[in-house]
Amino acid sequence: MLADYHMHTPFCRHAHGEPEEYAAEAVRKGLSEICFTDHSPAPAGFWCDGMRLDEFPAYQEAVFRCRESAAIPVLFGIEADFLPDPDFLAFARQWLPAQPFDVVLGSVHIIRGWVFTHGGESLEKWKTVDVAAVWREYFDLVGQMADTRLYDIVTHLDAPKHSGYWPPESQIPEIVQPALDRIAAAGMGIELNTSGLLRPCKEIYPSPLILNLARERGIPISFGSDAHGPQDVGRYFDQALKLAKDAGYTHCLRMRGRKKELVPLPGG
Ligand code: ZN
Ligand code: FE
Ligand code: FE
Ligand code: ZN
Repeated sequence: MLADYHMHTPFCRHAHGEPEEYAAEAVRKGLSEICFTDHSPAPAGFWCDGMRLDEFPAYQEAVFRCRESAAIPVLFGIEADFLPDPDFLAFARQWLPAQPFDVVLGSVHIIRGWVFTHGGESLEKWKTVDVAAVWREYFDLVGQMADTRLYDIVTHLDAPKHSGYWPPESQIPEIVQPALDRIAAAGMGIELNTSGLLRPCKEIYPSPLILNLARERGIPISFGSDAHGPQDVGRYFDQALKLAKDAGYTHCLRMRGRKKELVPLPGG
């Protein structure tokens, strides 16, 4: 039985369904536990795909309420952005450790003001950029995120493939390995995020190639659907489990109060 450690709620304004409906779907699909990880609030003046700071207590309350009635463990988490900005990081350094989270996912959705994973117009820009250079810049940001030690698990690790723009495959190890080394040094995990199957790239984040490089470094994994509605919970987890096993993984992460432990993957 796998756990789904990535799901959103209506607090982000682009997801739908009550937390209880997500939990019921998880039980129906035979998941062992779930973690809500809605998009985090940001300090004033910064891009934010999520709730306002003053809505955070209601988010926490909704997840804790769900936990009381759910038939499986319901964890409390957040999908927190990383921006290389001193004011943003001052907020993150003070705010993230002060909340009672089980899991803090770390995401990079923005490169120098460009939201490269969202929105029609913003995605047009992929046609005009040096793809390998963007990938390089993105993975350097992921490395900087790991260096902060503020996050537990990198979500959608190869997010720049979202719109179907890859550098030549021969360049990918050299682009990705420095970030993986920094993730490993930080003791972070990475997530197998199945929502990539629904994007133009049509594959799970990260690719088999990158997952193999992560496994070589002993980086642990979690599973996430990135559900934005109850029906998405645990979606394509059969494919994610196969991807993990094909890369040589035998265990995945289980978290409580931001402490990691490893549990065997289902089916040995
Ligand atoms: Zn979202
Ligand atoms: Fe994300
Ligand atoms: Fe997400
Ligand atoms: Zn996401």
